[in-house]
Amino acid sequence: MSENSSAPPPDGGDDPRPLSIGAPAELREGERRVAMTPAVVAGYAKLGATVVIEAGAGEAAGFPDAAYEEKGAVVGSRDDAFGADILTCVRVLGGDAGSPDAGRLRAGQAVVGMAAPLAAPEVSAAVAARGATLFSLELLPRTTRAQSMDVLSSQANIAGYRAVLLAAQALPKVFPLLTTAAGTIPPARVFVVGAGVAGLSAIATSRRLGAVVEAYDVREAAKEEVQSLGARFVELPLDTGQEGSGSGAYASAMSDEALARQRELMLKTVAGSDVVITTAQVQGAKAPVLITAEMVEGMSPGSVVVDLAAEQGGNVEPSLPGRTVDVGGVSVIGPVDVPSSVPQHASLMYAKNIANFVALLVRDGALALETEDELVAGCTVARDGEVVNERVRAALGAEEGVAS
Ligand code: NAD
Repeated sequence: MSENSSAPPPDGGDDPRPLSIGAPAELREGERRVAMTPAVVAGYAKLGATVVIEAGAGEAAGFPDAAYEEKGAVVGSRDDAFGADILTCVRVLGGDAGSPDAGRLRAGQAVVGMAAPLAAPEVSAAVAARGATLFSLELLPRTTRAQSMDVLSSQANIAGYRAVLLAAQALPKVFPLLTTAAGTIPPARVFVVGAGVAGLSAIATSRRLGAVVEAYDVREAAKEEVQSLGARFVELPLDTGQEGSGSGAYASAMSDEALARQRELMLKTVAGSDVVITTAQVQGAKAPVLITAEMVEGMSPGSVVVDLAAEQGGNVEPSLPGRTVDVGGVSVIGPVDVPSSVPQHASLMYAKNIANFVALLVRDGALALETEDELVAGCTVARDGEVVNERVRAALGAEEGVAS
C-alpha cells in the first residue's frame, strides 16, 4: 500500500471537505485493541463522515483490513489516519508524551481516547501543545446518559472476567464442587476486594465457574449488588469515611488508620480463601494497599492472588506489574494490559463507546467542538493550545513541583 494513496479527499473547491474520522494502529507494546471496529464504520458514515483506518490496525484484535473495507472504510497509511478531523485512539499518543505521533496532530482536530490524564498528564500537555482538542474518556461523568460511552466500565468488565481465568489457570484446584466416584471436591473459595465494575464481573465469572464467593467494598451500595450475584458480602466493622457513597459515586481515599484496620479485619477472610482478586481503586490517587505480604503468607500454599490494580501501584504489597511473584507458595499475579488480552471483545465495546461519544461531536456532518453538553465538557482536557481541565492542570503542576 502506498503512502497517502487512499487519503481522505482533499479540499474540493466550493464543496467543504467532508468530515473524516480516523483510527491509527496502536503501537504501545502489549496493546492489541483498536479504537475502531468494522461494526462502527456504518454509523460514522451516517454522521456524514469518511472513515479512514491505518492498515493493519485491527489485525491483533481479529479485524482484518478487508472487514473495514467491506463496511466502506478507507484503509490508509498512519499519516492518513492521523490526518482525520476526529482521531479515535485507545491510548492517546500510545501513552508517550514524547511520541513522534505528536507531530502528526494539528489545531482544529479532535482527539478522542484514553490519555490517562491524571496518571500521565504530560500526554495531555503534549496534545495541547499541538493545538488539538483532547477528549479523554476516563473523565466522562459517570451519569446514566454516559453509560453507553463509559470506556472505564466496558474495559473493567473484561478485566474482571479475565482476572478470574488467570486465577483459575494458576490454581492447583478446580473451581466447582465435584461429586464423583473418586470422592467429593469442595468448591474453591474466592474473595473479591473492591466490588465496582471489575469486581462485580469477577464475582459473576467466579460464580459461573462454581466457586463460593465473598466480596467487600467500602461503598455501602455495593452490598446489594454483590448479594444479587449470589456472593456473600463481608461485613467489616469499619468507619470508611465514605460520604455520599451511593450508587454511581466513587470511593474516596481512606486514612492510613482506616486502611490498617481494614487489613486487620480482612486477615481471616484472606487466609481462608483459595483465590483473592483485588480491584480497589480511588480515582486520581494511587491504589490503596489492602493485602500485605504477611496476609499473603497466611494463605495456604497453592493459593492465588490476582492484583488488578498492579499497574496503579497495587492493592497487594508484594505484587509487581507484569509479573507473578511466589510468596511462600502463594502465586501473586500482577497482570498488566488486562482488557487488551481479550482484544476482540474489548475493542468491540471500546469502539462502540467511542462511536457513541463521537456522535456528540458532530452536527450536520461537521465537527462541532462548541457544545454545552455536560458529557463533552466533562472530558475536555485540552483545547486552544492549553490543558483546560482543572484536575489535569493540578496534576501537571504537581509534576512540575516534583521535578523542580
Ligand atoms: P473504581 O475502578 O474506581 O474502583 C473499584 C472499586 O474499588 C470501587 O467499587 C471502590 O468503591 C472500591 N474501593 C476503593 N477503595 C476500597 C477499599 N479500601 N476497600 C475495598 N474497596 C475499595 O470503580 P468503578 O468500578 O469504576 O466504579 C465506581 C462507581 O461508579 C461505582 O459506584 C459504580 O457503580 C459507578 N458506575 C457508574 C456508572 C454510570 O452510571 N455511568 C458506570 C460505571 C460505574
